[in-house]
Amino acid sequence: DVAHGRILYLDDVSVSFDGFRAINKLSLDIAPGELRCIIGPNGAGKTTMMDIITGKTRPDAGSVFFGSTIDLLRYKEAEIAGMGIGRKFQKPTVFEQLTVFENLELALKTDKRVPASVFFQASSEDRDRLAQVLRTIHLADSVNRQAGNLSHGQKQWLEIGMLLMQDPKLLLLDEPVAGMTDEETERTAELFLSLKGKHSLMVVEHDMSFIQAISEKVTVLHEGSVLAEGTLQQVQGDERVIEVYLGR
Ligand code: ADP
Repeated sequence: DVAHGRILYLDDVSVSFDGFRAINKLSLDIAPGELRCIIGPNGAGKTTMMDIITGKTRPDAGSVFFGSTIDLLRYKEAEIAGMGIGRKFQKPTVFEQLTVFENLELALKTDKRVPASVFFQASSEDRDRLAQVLRTIHLADSVNRQAGNLSHGQKQWLEIGMLLMQDPKLLLLDEPVAGMTDEETERTAELFLSLKGKHSLMVVEHDMSFIQAISEKVTVLHEGSVLAEGTLQQVQGDERVIEVYLGR
């Protein structure tokens, strides 16, 4: 949705759980090809926001648009996944018994739009994508390795690769570098920078040096709404942000 300058648009979104407002009049938009980092203390509403975008949680008020025309609140979770919104949770969930190649191939077959994909046949376009994804996720030399034998970082990359096989427009990632070594974190930054522009990304992270390496714009969530937005330097220098992080 280049014309309107946004791929995702949340407007005045609220949701309560048993009277507690987890998301409170949240408004936020993401530009096509943007890599946005989301930070915020525990309980700020980061997970709930992702749940709303992916259709797992329905807000009580507000609107959520994908591009300028698709009202996401009219669709179910599986339908939203099929539109090209991929989500990765913190823990890697690859098929440990299968090889890297087989995991990626399987990701192609699990096209949510086509439930009866038993007759799946990889096209040459699919094979090209698979080769491209293998390079992107730094696993081109490990195609035939069993996923269970990969390092924690490599498993995370493989799972990102599985999402990329579906060529998503928007990727939502929850703490992608948690538990990684410094070297893996650096290579993940490289990976993310190579995705930027081709995909839009929303990354929830706590690792500030990783955020520094990948992001131009950071959104700080607090008590279910946007507390500050800007470069990492800008938000880190924001009085309200300092107060929230250091305690009152
Ligand atoms: P974050 O991901 O930023 O740590 P969450 O989105 O997980 O924050 O949670 C925001 C707030 O909403 C927290 O106070 C949490 O306890 C509450 N919350 C989230 N999901 C539920 C739920 N299903 N039922 C009740 N409370 C919830």
